[in-house]
Amino acid sequence: MKFHQMNWQQRLAAIETTANLEASEKDLFINNYSAINEQMVENYLTSFTLPEGILPNIVVNNQQYQVPMVTEEPSVIAAASNGARMINMGGGVKVTSTSREMLGQVLINEAHFTAVHELVNQQQTTLISIGNAAHPSMLQRGGGLKRITTRDLGDGFVSVDLHIDTQAAMGANVVNTISEAVANYLRGQNVGNIVMAILSNLATESLVTARVALPFKVLAKAGFNANDIAQRIVLANQFSQRDPYRATTENKGVMNGIDAVVMASGNDWRAISAGIHAFASREGQYRNLVTWTHDETTLYGEITVPLPVGVVGGSIGIVPLVKANHKILQVHSANELAAIIAAVGLAQNLSALRALVTSGIQAGHMQLQLKSLALAVGATIDEVPTLVNKLQQATHADMQTAQQLLTEMRE
Ligand code: NDP
Repeated sequence: MKFHQMNWQQRLAAIETTANLEASEKDLFINNYSAINEQMVENYLTSFTLPEGILPNIVVNNQQYQVPMVTEEPSVIAAASNGARMINMGGGVKVTSTSREMLGQVLINEAHFTAVHELVNQQQTTLISIGNAAHPSMLQRGGGLKRITTRDLGDGFVSVDLHIDTQAAMGANVVNTISEAVANYLRGQNVGNIVMAILSNLATESLVTARVALPFKVLAKAGFNANDIAQRIVLANQFSQRDPYRATTENKGVMNGIDAVVMASGNDWRAISAGIHAFASREGQYRNLVTWTHDETTLYGEITVPLPVGVVGGSIGIVPLVKANHKILQVHSANELAAIIAAVGLAQNLSALRALVTSGIQAGHMQLQLKSLALAVGATIDEVPTLVNKLQQATHADMQTAQQLLTEMRE
């Protein structure tokens, strides 16, 4: 029998044999079985869980939010919460967004760009009707295919871009359905070789901009001058404008926050990550997502990112924990969720840069990293605090030391 034809028990038995699983390991797979999740993916074996924590308060457009964050990385939620604390003292984050549309692409080669362009212009109304007829419910709720443009990709390659309003959903499936319908029609129009139709994850028509204005004093930290901190944050940020090596790391920190909320809200973090990183390269060089500037009294931060997230669709209505997370978030529209996500990205970046230009990133990280280290060498939950204490006093907090200290504790 092929693996995909087996039922869950048969799949687990097969893996148990090939991987030589011990009984306790097999129990992990059994205990984390979920009938709902089995319906979601192919060859389902078990459900893999990650920690979820809460950013307790971030003010976005004058409203307070509690934000669930899903991440395996220690210190991400602490840093986001600390960034939000400073931002809230400065009046919170102000977020604006552009129109919220997704792009579908019909990709054609062996084409004359002018011929495709003219056909699309002349038959715009027909093409829009054909697209919307493929998913009429989106049109009925005020969304659907709005307009069609063309781009010359050179050498006979052309993209026909479908601008689709997906309302409260991310809209991948809706966009693909509409795009395929338009592609099928174009196949009969002799405009070239219709290669494929699919959405683009570079969602430049779903841009969200979050801004903060922080009086220097909110950055205060014992042993440091708040004005200096502001200036050094701006300087640190300038490295990312010049250097893709530094920009990648700075943006990774921003994505610590963004991805954690995208995941907790049941959205597609691969889609969001792909779009955001491509957007960071829009000027031909990979650059920082957040920009910091200052004047005499105030530090200004700004982030612009494509965030085509949904509050319906995909796994959102299926996974009970995601539904509960939406209840915690209390968001009523996709725009509102996107605003929170951008704000968390900004808070995350503020916290990271402030740490980097003052005590360094490790000082704050270590307490949480030491916990992970203690668990990694096999400390029980009860043993963790003592082992962390001992590791803090050790010259090198590495695996060997942790193992040695644990053994000594147990003697
Ligand atoms: P769905 O396919 O679940 O479509 C959205 C659903 O929400 C539709 O069924 C729609 O109903 C319903 N809906 C109810 N109320 C609303 C409303 N107010 N506004 C909009 N829709 C509403 O999900 P998406 O199309 O959003 O696609 C997201 C999924 O696609 C994710 O799981 C993603 O991982 C995946 N995906 C991603 C790709 C990519 O990023 N490249 C490619 C392919 C898939 P109705 O049908 O009545 O309109």
